[in-house]
Amino acid sequence: MNPFKIAQEQLDTAAKLLKLDPAVHSLLREPKRVLEVTFPVRMDNGQVKTFKGFRVQYSDARGPCKGGIRFHPQETIDTVKALAAWMTWKTACVDIPLGGGKGGVICNPKEMSLSELERLSRAYIDAIGAIIGPELDIPAPDVYTTPQIMAWMVDEFAKIRGYNAPGVITGKPIALGGSQGRGDATARGAVYTIREAAKRLNIPLKGATVAVQGYGNAGSYAAILLQEMGAQIIAVSDSKGGIISEKGLDPNAVLQHKQKTGSVIGFPGAKNITNEALLELECAILVPAALENVITAKNASRIKAKIVAEAANGPTTPDADEILLKNKVFDIPDFLCNAGGVTVSYFEWVQNIYGLYWPVEEVHSRLDKIMTRAFNDVYDMHVKHNVNMRMAAYMLSVQRVAEAMKLRGWV
Ligand code: NAD
Repeated sequence: MNPFKIAQEQLDTAAKLLKLDPAVHSLLREPKRVLEVTFPVRMDNGQVKTFKGFRVQYSDARGPCKGGIRFHPQETIDTVKALAAWMTWKTACVDIPLGGGKGGVICNPKEMSLSELERLSRAYIDAIGAIIGPELDIPAPDVYTTPQIMAWMVDEFAKIRGYNAPGVITGKPIALGGSQGRGDATARGAVYTIREAAKRLNIPLKGATVAVQGYGNAGSYAAILLQEMGAQIIAVSDSKGGIISEKGLDPNAVLQHKQKTGSVIGFPGAKNITNEALLELECAILVPAALENVITAKNASRIKAKIVAEAANGPTTPDADEILLKNKVFDIPDFLCNAGGVTVSYFEWVQNIYGLYWPVEEVHSRLDKIMTRAFNDVYDMHVKHNVNMRMAAYMLSVQRVAEAMKLRGWV
């Protein structure tokens, strides 16, 4: 299904429940601004290739647009529009003063040299430079874009403007104004929401069993941080398969094993398990931290976890959502659960504007406050309207964006 149609339908459901003013609803169904650009890049063989890119500014009612840039061969304008809408809800959900945007370039970075990637990144910024800026729209890394790519982009922007403006892009290397604590921010934010959910459900984190699907940035840090809080990691996986140990896994040792061998598979003392079976394990907390659409109508009735914490984007399909709700599985929706990344991106932008940089402890404590408040805001909405946490998060976010639009006099 077209991802933008899905995003619009989700908004429609929230709008109906909120009895949203039709004028606000109609304006929110479409992005504020869509830019499509075509630009040339000279490849290493001397030939010039034409690339297409996009930047979508979905809403700036609550502040400058914010959202990553993806370099992907299958990028489409509808994916970028949907992701920009979801960024609007995510920044509103955690109540940071930013709107939502997203960008993308149709390209295959795996087939490009570093110097070709640099020229592509600079050319993209030349093409969209007029509509981005620290007070306007602030891109960041996403699929197949890295801190190095952000460094080239922020440098290109400085050339266009004639002065350094580090706040135009977040996810930069520390040496160029990146924030401390960005590396594990998504996992840390997710873990704070898990801690709050466990409190509400009276599940002690000490000794709580955890299964994590995906052992990359989000999954591995989530496992390490949950263990630090006393939970027991019983199974983890990556694209090659999973491992399980009822006695518990040492998540740091598993990470070292993955860094050395390329996979979690073969970790000494653990048994193998498939990715499908991992999702259905008897455990207190399940953290999908890999791909979208892994919890579906097919397997949702076999999920035994008490809490599903969506570190990944879109791991649960809408029909699976209903089954989880019926079976009293408590689902922390993606745009609340994984908002720690964009929250620390917001901190990076604030530090860039101030020119004053925070120690990592300050980043952690500010992140904790924002994630805890957001979890509790969504939880209260879930109780008040008797809807699942995902719909509660939508309703809360849409309401906040709508309020800003009304106050501005747009509707
Ligand atoms: P990553 O590339 O660092 O890690 C992904 C992990 O998933 C890898 O270990 C990979 O082996 C594993 N994987 C791939 N296919 C798999 C499969 N079929 N079964 C099981 N595991 C599989 O990516 P990441 O940054 O950790 O992102 C993971 C998810 O979290 C994505 O959905 C992403 O959109 C979401 N997310 C990440 C961030 C962030 O800041 N990193 C922020 C918000 C959301």
